[in-house]
Amino acid sequence: MMLPQDEARLKFCPLLKTSDDKFRMCQGTQCMMWRYKDTAQAGAGDVGYCGLAGKPAAG
Ligand code: SF4
Repeated sequence: MMLPQDEARLKFCPLLKTSDDKFRMCQGTQCMMWRYKDTAQAGAGDVGYCGLAGKPAAG
């Protein structure tokens, strides 16, 4: 799923949990796994994805 990081921050991260075992939200560019669709367009509103599952097939 390609989306801007402000939208990604509203999605749950499959890795991050709170101390009481609840999922936390995506951290966007604060996370080493965040990838931009186009590295030449790496601004706050530019689309990207979580690199955990590889690059999305379409988008
Ligand atoms: S980019 Fe990082 S914080 Fe966001 S969902 Fe992926 S692993 Fe979690």
